[in-house]
Amino acid sequence: MLADGSRSARAAPPTAVAGIWSERETEGDAPWCDQPMTPSTPPNWPHCGHGAAPETDPIGCRGIHVPGHTACLAHLEPGVRGAYFNGLQPGDDVDHRGTTFDEELLRALLAALHDSDIDAPKLGDAEFSEATFSGTARFSGATFSGNTWFSDATFNRTAQFSEATFNGTAGFNRATFSKSAGFRGVSGKLYLTARCRLAAGSRRLPRFPRAGWCWRRP
Ligand SMILES: [Zn+2]
Repeated sequence: MLADGSRSARAAPPTAVAGIWSERETEGDAPWCDQPMTPSTPPNWPHCGHGAAPETDPIGCRGIHVPGHTACLAHLEPGVRGAYFNGLQPGDDVDHRGTTFDEELLRALLAALHDSDIDAPKLGDAEFSEATFSGTARFSGATFSGNTWFSDATFNRTAQFSEATFNGTAGFNRATFSKSAGFRGVSGKLYLTARCRLAAGSRRLPRFPRAGWCWRRP
């Protein structure tokens, strides 16, 4: 954490505080808060393209292909999606970059990764960069046993990570929280890189123990 909060300290490397990478910034010292994402640029992964239209939306859905398919998890045929879920085991790696999750879809994914030993979802390496969570994102109690990325993710409603365990890197760079974000009681080997932004209109600042956030006031 930058003790003096000065602008000159911004160029300094992140400071490790009790094993957590902390990059505390202030609103005036966080230009990326106002930098929009660039959805006009295609993602650097094989993407779904659902809904693409040459004139208005040449890229379409940015969700990464589910392995072995040509659509993202949200746009797979229901039967194919069910087969994917059935093939998942607790602790498996998942990569759903750019995918839009409503509450039902996220619940189904986490149910497929449910570990009866801990009575909670267990994920390996988890990639949710640029994912959008249109409903409440309930990751409470989940174990992330690999590296976890929510870079540029958008949480349109509450994000719940309370009591989650992160055993690798947990990155929330440039994530947008529209409502509250709960990180109470998280544990594990955590290296958090959290330069986040709060959507305009939101009044609650997400907080993470001993790590910094940036925000934009309503
Ligand atoms: Zn899609």
